[in-house]
Amino acid sequence: DQHDIATPRRTKEIISKHGFSFKKSLGQNFLIDANILNKIVEAADLTSERGALEIGPGIGALTERLAQQAKAVTAVEIDQRLIPILKDSLQEYSNVNVRHGDILKVDLHELFREDFGNVDKVSVVANLPYYVTTPILMKLLEERLPLDNIVVMIQKEVAQRMAAKPGGKEYGSLSIAVQYYCEPELVCIVPKTVFIPQPNVESAVIRLKLREQPAVQVEDEQHFFDIVQSSFVQRRKTIANNLKTRYFAGGDREQLEQLLNRAGIDPARRGETLSLEEYAVLSRVFLEAGI
Ligand code: SAM
Repeated sequence: DQHDIATPRRTKEIISKHGFSFKKSLGQNFLIDANILNKIVEAADLTSERGALEIGPGIGALTERLAQQAKAVTAVEIDQRLIPILKDSLQEYSNVNVRHGDILKVDLHELFREDFGNVDKVSVVANLPYYVTTPILMKLLEERLPLDNIVVMIQKEVAQRMAAKPGGKEYGSLSIAVQYYCEPELVCIVPKTVFIPQPNVESAVIRLKLREQPAVQVEDEQHFFDIVQSSFVQRRKTIANNLKTRYFAGGDREQLEQLLNRAGIDPARRGETLSLEEYAVLSRVFLEAGI
């Protein structure tokens, strides 16, 4: 459609009409490529019964597509200067609610009650500001929102870490945190050239399908994630050495090795080789031993 916001011409027009200047500190890199937008929207499985939450709508390139596909769209934008621009560029869509705010401070359960009361399922769809990707995604996951899936454009390396399997250098606590809640799938790698202005890094679209139950059963999530974190503090060290620093700083190396053996884990392995299941077993064995 020639009226699409996501073209270089329309984007430049809107920007100059409103005298807008990009703020690098807010991660403002706007999408100007219709094909990439199609891929993002397709991956979210939207229907006319579903809702979409967008984080950082910018001037509305993706918001417009979401409005065409979903029943209700809520877009939360931190930059006050963009609010009147969005109202203007999206005026023909009655199913869009633009909210001014910092997504990290918004009460999302309240937002869901207010905006998504009469939709079937909700997707988060966004071209995220890269400086806060991980805090935003962890907030969405940890608050256990009733989400079907999350489709986001993020920095390529971060997407690869989220989707990484055990055994490689990309696998770490972020992979485990994301995979605990979701099944990740890399949708596509995206070149810098589809943005105005161009970012310094390559990007990727990742799809996170929310699991109905976490990937592994753990008694105490905080304990589980604490063990995971501790196991990667010094990646080149063995799991035994990392865990010793965190839980056995006083000494008892023998007890630690016994517990690792009881969990079926060779103390000489490195944290990056353990699966989620193995971390779950380790957490259980530690808890049983009062650690
Ligand atoms: N969705 C637009 C697009 O694809 O062209 C803009 C994407 S741009 C990468 C990120 C957007 O997120 C910017 O509009 C920025 O102002 C906004 N933003 C940055 N931090 C935010 C936060 N904490 N809460 C809400 N929006 C934020």
